Amino acid sequence: MRITLIAALLLASPAAAETIAIKAGRVITDAAKPALGPSTIIVTDGRITAINPASAPITSGARVIDQSTRTLSPGLIDSHVHLTGDPGLPFWREAVDSAELSVAYGLKNARITAKAGFTTVRDLGSARLAGFAVRDAINSGMFPGPRVLAAGAALSIVGGHGDVSGFAPVVNDALDQGNTCTGAVECAARVREASQRGADVIKFTATGGVLSQQGRGLDQHFTDDEMRAIVSTAHSLGLKVAAHAHGPRGIEAAARAGVDSVEHGSFTDEAGAKALAANKGWLVPTLLPFRATAERLGSGAYTPVVEAKVRAILERRGKQIIAARAAGARIAFGTDAGVFEHGRNGQEASDMVEFGGMTARDVLISATTGAAELLGLSSEIGTLEPGKAADIIATDGDPTADAKQLAQVKWVMARGKVID
Ligand SMILES: [Zn+2]
Repeated sequence: MRITLIAALLLASPAAAETIAIKAGRVITDAAKPALGPSTIIVTDGRITAINPASAPITSGARVIDQSTRTLSPGLIDSHVHLTGDPGLPFWREAVDSAELSVAYGLKNARITAKAGFTTVRDLGSARLAGFAVRDAINSGMFPGPRVLAAGAALSIVGGHGDVSGFAPVVNDALDQGNTCTGAVECAARVREASQRGADVIKFTATGGVLSQQGRGLDQHFTDDEMRAIVSTAHSLGLKVAAHAHGPRGIEAAARAGVDSVEHGSFTDEAGAKALAANKGWLVPTLLPFRATAERLGSGAYTPVVEAKVRAILERRGKQIIAARAAGARIAFGTDAGVFEHGRNGQEASDMVEFGGMTARDVLISATTGAAELLGLSSEIGTLEPGKAADIIATDGDPTADAKQLAQVKWVMARGKVID
């Protein structure tokens, strides 16, 4: 009886992995290289196993997906999102909504983000364990979405951009995330705690921020010593570091401390750009929030302390890209989605061209091989080649010639699964 049961289980075990053949009009295997003509991409078990000329016979039994009128490219990477939040909610919702509820927001937004063509995202700031829960739920296959690298709560100075503020002190205390630190020793401890909780990357707020209820300016918040402690501790644990930074001296200090990326970098000047280039740091410019916040100015959506900061920063859109590239620093694509509606991520591309002077091809590189390198995932994503994850998007036009194509992705496969 027992033997029969085992035999039955063996018979019922899953059949050989499904093979998928995707017919493509053109294939951009690497954003820096010329595209292939009509081809068939073979996918098995979530990975690309071959890219054949369209004339080659298709393996019998393969499921065929016809994208033969379109251009296929590597799945896009957004290095800066906040999946667990929606835009435009009044700041006091922070005191009403639970971290558990924000997981539901995150799973909703993950699907929207993947559908827009973003098959990998870096979630740079969420409440408590919410970002990790979203990541783990997608990885387990329960929910559709992109590959997620999650930071958890961003480290902040007391009263800084990542600390809860704007309420009565007793409410601020009750909402505290345990993410602030003072001095190198305490900051190193916070990094180790984040690692222990499951952070894939460390985010810290090197300077003040625009949309938080704190009016302590937009320049350097953590001391040089604290920044060095955060970076060296994270690197000793194999974790990369993303520094939120707007003001010029905070950008320069973060770059000198050896961060892997400066996020936003709004007031990047020559000294900051040179420090970033010298330390092989990346700039993640996040231009889309400029558009979204400009749309809300004067509408009463922002408190006066926030409105003043928004007005100060609007003039800077794109200038950080020009400064960084002039100094030789590299650009990785990132949007700050969550500050505006999730799913609009691809609209960043045309702003990078219009305001930052990049070509469409430069932008696609920043969203594929560039961001893959920043995230430490070059062996897994960023190009289409045998052995890599089947993260693939289809567009009607050529995204190396027209940046707007990244906002009009027509079909998406993430780790071998079609996102519908
Ligand atoms: Zn952000």
